[in-house]
Amino acid sequence: MSALASIDASALLPESLRADFPILNDDVLDGHPLVFLDNAASTQRPRQVIDMIARVYEHDYANVHRGIHTLSERSTEQYEEAREKVARFIGAANSHEVIFTQGTTGSINLVARSWGETNLRPGDEILTTVMEHHSNLVPWQQVAAKTGATLKHVPITEDGRLDMDAFAKLLSDRTKLVAVTSVSNTLGTVNPIAEIIAQAHAVGALVLVDAAQSVPHMVTDVAAWDCDFLAFSGHKMLGPSGVGILYGKEALLDAMPPFLGGGSMINEVRLDGFTPAELPAKFEAGTPPIVPAIAMSAAIDYLQAVGLDAIHRHEQALVDYAYEQLSQIEGLRILGPAPEFRTSLVSFAFEKIHAHEFAQVLNDRFGVAVRAGHHCTQPLHRLLGLSASTRASFYLYNRPEEVDRLLEGIAAVQAMFA
Ligand code: PLP
Repeated sequence: MSALASIDASALLPESLRADFPILNDDVLDGHPLVFLDNAASTQRPRQVIDMIARVYEHDYANVHRGIHTLSERSTEQYEEAREKVARFIGAANSHEVIFTQGTTGSINLVARSWGETNLRPGDEILTTVMEHHSNLVPWQQVAAKTGATLKHVPITEDGRLDMDAFAKLLSDRTKLVAVTSVSNTLGTVNPIAEIIAQAHAVGALVLVDAAQSVPHMVTDVAAWDCDFLAFSGHKMLGPSGVGILYGKEALLDAMPPFLGGGSMINEVRLDGFTPAELPAKFEAGTPPIVPAIAMSAAIDYLQAVGLDAIHRHEQALVDYAYEQLSQIEGLRILGPAPEFRTSLVSFAFEKIHAHEFAQVLNDRFGVAVRAGHHCTQPLHRLLGLSASTRASFYLYNRPEEVDRLLEGIAAVQAMFA
């Protein structure tokens, strides 16, 4: 029986959807069909998103909220419709709770600088975790240094899950904010966000969820989570780069000062001061990422037409298969927990072969694009005794045969370095 027979084929999405992604059928690497397993870094875009970008630039483009002319009205209308679509997609009650930023990093920095610098004092604690992306660590280090607040980190268990006992012990009435990822971009671990939020709220702390790796892959409902802040990026969910989202509860955003100053974020400017605009404009100073934000509509339409649950099942089948096959390779260490506690990606390391050498051979000889390095989780890698790892990350267009191609590549690299 071939290894492939062990995959849950009933969970897979039809291969025909690959035709929607021009780059997947492009001759990126002379002679090799592209096997794109670097989706956690950034996904590819379907024709529907690319067409929408072209259509807006060709027919509807002007700056938003500024001109009293037809094109400005058209682009403003589409920009605001996109905001409404994003709000519905994540279960937000109001579209003005959705702020367009430049990405997850921009969203987290907005909260750190605006909320953090206003509300944190010496003696207060920010609780984050050792599995965070640098985007959810460095802004809190910066804000802690400025305000005198203390930054603490929830450890992980031996199998790469959040240590919830340690979390409960670290929480106290000094905790003002918990900043946590919903899915680790290195371990693939899915964190119990609803439970984390309930426990944090019980001590009066707010919660910011770094949802960069979960919004693209599973249904998000900020209302069901009672989430205070949620950050994610368009480019990891079939959308354009250059746009991200910050969701925040209205009362919290209302009470926060603007982060950036400039055009669009004011009601009135005098020589001696200004009055900020209402939400969401208050946090969108300057010309926003107009076309990327509008094209988020097409990305969301695409994801919803395929169905988030179907996407999740498909990726889970691929991850189960990859995990099972990789765990049989001698000398290969899989990072993170068993498949039932993870989603969409598998990172691994070899004692004797550096991740960069691995990725180079996989690319050059097998056309397999993976990420090699610390994936912006240097503290986590250090904790695991590694400087780097190789990460294969999946999305709705990946096929089981591509996992086989990865496995073939791994076998060849091992043979080369034996
Ligand atoms: N958080 C996580 C968990 C990520 O995986 C990433 C991107 O890799 C980010 C934050 C940063 O996203 P961006 O570079 O789009 O701001």
